[in-house]
Amino acid sequence: MASSFFSQPLRFQCQGSGNCCVSRGEYGYVYVTLEDRRRMARHFAMSTSAFTRKHCFRAHGIWALKGFDESCVFLKDKKCSVYEARPTQCRTWPFWPEHKGAKAWKKEVADFCPGVGKGKLWSVESMNRLAQEQVKSEEQYGD
Ligand code: SF4
Repeated sequence: MASSFFSQPLRFQCQGSGNCCVSRGEYGYVYVTLEDRRRMARHFAMSTSAFTRKHCFRAHGIWALKGFDESCVFLKDKKCSVYEARPTQCRTWPFWPEHKGAKAWKKEVADFCPGVGKGKLWSVESMNRLAQEQVKSEEQYGD
């Protein structure tokens, strides 16, 4: 098993670069659970089905936001325009289970995100709580 990078406190604070909302190779999808779609629909005062029809598509049984070509459609002036209602994967980033190894943390997070090493010191418990939340969310992508 890869050594867990989340076994020691890490410093991370979003610097507003928008880099995590921009396409980079295989990272071209924002996946959304039913709960994410409900929350975002409320944000736009729409029904969940209308929001899903307008903003989502289903690829291989998984719901994702439409229109992520260069960047997420909700990224405006390097800011998330749906921040309060943003999908779970955006809220749990960068503490995803697949980033727990030191190598993955460097390649998938530290190398392009200026928030790494800045600001808030995250406890092991809070990072693992978010990683766990992300795992649960991934189990619901097909809903
Ligand atoms: S929903 Fe917001 S936080 Fe998530 S990728 Fe889009 S712009 Fe970024």
